[in-house]
Amino acid sequence: MLPIPVNEPLLDGNEKKYLNQSIDTGWISSEGPFVVQFEQQFAARVERKYGIAVSNGSVALDAAVVALGIGQGDEVILPTFTIISCAAAITRAGAVPVVVDCDPHTWNMDISQIEAKITSRTKAIMVVHIYGLPVDMIPILALADKYGLQVIEDAAEMHGQTYNGLPCGSFGNISTFSFYPNKHITTGEGGMLLTNDEQLAQRCRSLRNLCFQPQKRFVHEELGWNMRMSNLQAAIGVAQLERLDEFVARKRRMGQRYTELLAAIPGIQLPLPRTEYADNIYWVYGLVLKDEVPFDAETAMQRLRELHIGTRPFFWCMHEQPVFSKMGLFEGESCPVAERIARRGFYIPSGLALTEEQIERVALGVKEIMR
Ligand SMILES: *Cc1c(COP(=O)(O)O)cnc(C)c1O
Repeated sequence: MLPIPVNEPLLDGNEKKYLNQSIDTGWISSEGPFVVQFEQQFAARVERKYGIAVSNGSVALDAAVVALGIGQGDEVILPTFTIISCAAAITRAGAVPVVVDCDPHTWNMDISQIEAKITSRTKAIMVVHIYGLPVDMIPILALADKYGLQVIEDAAEMHGQTYNGLPCGSFGNISTFSFYPNKHITTGEGGMLLTNDEQLAQRCRSLRNLCFQPQKRFVHEELGWNMRMSNLQAAIGVAQLERLDEFVARKRRMGQRYTELLAAIPGIQLPLPRTEYADNIYWVYGLVLKDEVPFDAETAMQRLRELHIGTRPFFWCMHEQPVFSKMGLFEGESCPVAERIARRGFYIPSGLALTEEQIERVALGVKEIMR
């Protein structure tokens, strides 16, 4: 039996056509026309003025932190339940990550814990929307306003999602996206920064391109990176963006189908189908084993592997990362909700190419291991 991959993208639109155009015209570097087209179209879709395409979602976070002037001695509040890229961007800039626990139902950062973590050194809140449901933004924007904080919105998992009807990625000073193949739209590798602030956009463009200066190209006032996106990647991005609504609808149907098939199985917590402000777009379909289940996510994933079903564990908390404890960070930190879901949560195949037969096979597999 062929294993069901945890993620397989759909690339059957205009991807080949636009890639061929890039090759036929000789435009393959970041100077090619698809890069600007992708930036403009993606920014317009998220209702932002400026888009800066970069080589992946992780470096987008690096650029966002540095572009906002966050550095030595500053603190940034973020969820502990997220990808390493978020905390890495903060520590690499010389700033200190300060974590909050997550909500047991949405798995998003528990916004009620943010205010207590604000100090005179806090410069920003890094919001990360997790797995398909957006963070409740209004209270965060109010806190940012009250304390004069910047907001970075990591919307890597939120392509096409809205919060109270407004696009995710349209909030805060700057937002970031990833176009890794497991996201709703992909460029293979790729990322984007979005902002309405022209100066911030300029800073990001400069950081993306080694901080070359327009007048004296090889004289540098600051250090940047080469984090440019190629025209080949952007060609795929333009084709993928044409299908974003279709992809979001498809993911929603897949999520609803999983929920129908899994709802009656005891011992597992399923993703919330909706909150007050959004319907789930199921970036991934996560499961959390309830406390009465006598095994953890690792065992569950092993058993599913034996049934040829691909899985991935949930994120591992930032405050439990060996790399950060070696840096002396997060000593004595406790976030019981995130610690629990990190050990008892995993996600099942969630890619856009998943078929109805595969969904049914996965659901049967889950039923089997929960017996
Ligand atoms: C995927 C992801 C990233 C990193 O993106 P890459 O393109 O893989 O570097 C950052 N943040 C979140 C929330 C993600 O899901």
